[in-house]
Amino acid sequence: MSLIPGRVREAAERLTAFPAYLYDLAALDEHAAAVRQAMGETELYYAVKANPDPELLRVLRPHVDGFEVSSGGEFAHVRGLFPDARLALGGPGKTDEELRLAAGAHRVHVESPAELRRLLGLGRPAEVLLRLNLDLEVAGAALAMSGPFGMDADAVAECRPLFAGQVRFRGVHAHLASGLEAPQLLGLAAELAGQHPKEVNLGGGMAVDYAAPDSRFDWAAYGAGLAALRRPGQTLRVEPGRALTAYCGYYVTRVLDVKRTRGELYAILQGGTHHLRTPVTKGHDQPFTVLPGRDRPDGPEEPVTLVGQLCTPKDVFARRVPASVRTGDVVVFAMAGAYAWNISHHDFLMHPWPAFHHLFG
Ligand SMILES: *Cc1c(COP(=O)(O)O)cnc(C)c1O
Repeated sequence: MSLIPGRVREAAERLTAFPAYLYDLAALDEHAAAVRQAMGETELYYAVKANPDPELLRVLRPHVDGFEVSSGGEFAHVRGLFPDARLALGGPGKTDEELRLAAGAHRVHVESPAELRRLLGLGRPAEVLLRLNLDLEVAGAALAMSGPFGMDADAVAECRPLFAGQVRFRGVHAHLASGLEAPQLLGLAAELAGQHPKEVNLGGGMAVDYAAPDSRFDWAAYGAGLAALRRPGQTLRVEPGRALTAYCGYYVTRVLDVKRTRGELYAILQGGTHHLRTPVTKGHDQPFTVLPGRDRPDGPEEPVTLVGQLCTPKDVFARRVPASVRTGDVVVFAMAGAYAWNISHHDFLMHPWPAFHHLFG
């Protein structure tokens, strides 16, 4: 596997302390520029919850029209970095304190009639998108966002006459699922853009395939499709998270022990899924490359299970993947730039946290 660019490999080889996260900011810059170009007139927001690292946000800033924040914490974080950035405030359960922030946001995504009533009760201005809970089949989606998110048609109908004064209805928001390909997203877009002439936020959820690290969501097809759907004067917006930042992150660590137990070969790595929980939550093998230690003989590849230092059988990065792994080798996990460090249970077992290195090119 040649999963990693030269500058990432060189940086990994220079590391003296493990584990570490490496962020390839030059690659992120290039990727975000390409996405921006493909999106054309469609507004591009970044969903901050995928990875709120300030250096990543600074790289994304010139390529995006704004940021989608899902809590008061994310709101304060991004506001602190970029006082002038447009923010869209979402999240399934907002406190009154969070709803007050709507006055300083470009948009607030309202999740229920009761939430809209509370917003109105605050007596502050707000530009509202109603979040829809759509009755659509999403075949092949990794994670469907039905359940508690957004509103069905009855709840939307209940909201519409409530708008008054400084709280204005702007349009609708729909974040359907995660792991969607361009044709599926365009199906959703066609339906919504036809019904809501002013403004539609089509959400994120663009597919990221961890089994195919070189493949990318078809941004060109999605952008062209949206351009064809858009009506004069209509605002279409997307807010991807994972598909923007997943590819720029690497979790780098080293092999502490290699052993065979009941016939299975295991490599025990420093660190674990308390730093990189993504493969556990998504149920995949995290793609990786082994950088062999100096002076060690070449060995044949054989199926090996890569685990971390946690005292739980769930602490697995990859299962029975063919590789040649020895104690002292460095292992570089790719696709660790989104829903990785920031969704992990960092303090379980009280191992030290990784270092973070940002590669500027
Ligand atoms: C998480 C989330 C996103 C981003 O989803 P990705 O799968 O990371 O692209 C966008 N919008 C909303 C409302 C979300 O909850």
